[in-house]
Amino acid sequence: MKKHNFYAGPSILSEYTIQNTADAILNFAGTGLSVLEVSHRSKEFQAVIDEATALVKDLLDIPQGFEVLWLGGGASMQFCMIPYNLLAKKAAYLDTGTWASNAIKEARLFGDVEVVASSKDAGYTFIPKGFEVPADADYFHFTTNNTIYGTEMRVDPTVPCRMVADMSSDIFSRPIDFSNYDAIYAGAQKNLAPAGVTLVIVREEALGHVDRAIPTMLDYRTHIKKGSMFNTPPVLPIFSALQTLRYYKSLGGIEELERRDLEKAAMLYEAIDGSKMFTGTVTDPSDRSIMNVCFVMTPEYKELEKEFIDFCAGRGIVGIKGHRSVGGFRASLYNALPIESVKVLVEAMHDFETTH
Ligand SMILES: *Cc1c(COP(=O)(O)O)cnc(C)c1O
Repeated sequence: MKKHNFYAGPSILSEYTIQNTADAILNFAGTGLSVLEVSHRSKEFQAVIDEATALVKDLLDIPQGFEVLWLGGGASMQFCMIPYNLLAKKAAYLDTGTWASNAIKEARLFGDVEVVASSKDAGYTFIPKGFEVPADADYFHFTTNNTIYGTEMRVDPTVPCRMVADMSSDIFSRPIDFSNYDAIYAGAQKNLAPAGVTLVIVREEALGHVDRAIPTMLDYRTHIKKGSMFNTPPVLPIFSALQTLRYYKSLGGIEELERRDLEKAAMLYEAIDGSKMFTGTVTDPSDRSIMNVCFVMTPEYKELEKEFIDFCAGRGIVGIKGHRSVGGFRASLYNALPIESVKVLVEAMHDFETTH
């Protein structure tokens, strides 16, 4: 049976990415060797990382002055690398979920952190608005898409200082205006590649303004100088990322990806809104994520949640259980998820509701 993969991360990759990765595991670029066993300094792998970097710049329309890095350590490593490199005195953070608060915790090790707003007391069911960011902050950090809670900021806030964003779960789903950013970062395992590599895009002139000593591996300048090859980079995830980036380019780039993502999300939210059995958990519809759709059963059907997950499994639907801290359901509609899978889920919701 065809599987419909709604996992939140690691998550669905395009067939193109998986097939080409499988092929390269057997024979990489005609070398007669597996991509698992070649030197990262081989000319064949250099070509991979160079093309992947160029495609990121091309797809996201990254202006001069920014560097694209491929690092290990996950997005969580960036929670400390960002303040290590960019926080001289004070930074402002927006608390919109678990990942945002993890980032805040790390930043506090490096200087003053002003949490400008938080929706924690409301279970992170909305994105705070009307907050004020101090103009003397070194940067304002926010999470564009809150993977666990299903909220998203698709429009950048207007703030009086440079911004840094964790875009782990919605990068490549919208255009980015880099003019106000010092850095963005994204763990690969949601919209790009298998787990193991993190994409970092950093403004070079934002570096070098902190007094502290930075360990070599945690200093962005190390990786800029060495083209992400100071030490062995995650070779296989970078190879897979290149496949995904080629696939994105062939589809028509960000504009087309966004169009598809909006269409998929609209279809599922419409089904939730039109149902008596299901209800969304995000309180302000304008905060709804188009990547992670969170919903629960209304109180009178609550005890059927487990049964619905089993019902879905019978139709090949995988990975819709909500995060353990939220419960209910979460359907992740990342770029690689075909609209057909959303149709199958919507149909399952409808059929389950009519039989109960
Ligand atoms: C998944 C996720 C993370 C954590 O990524 P790791 O690579 O596991 O460290 C951080 N931020 C967001 C928004 C995420 O979705």
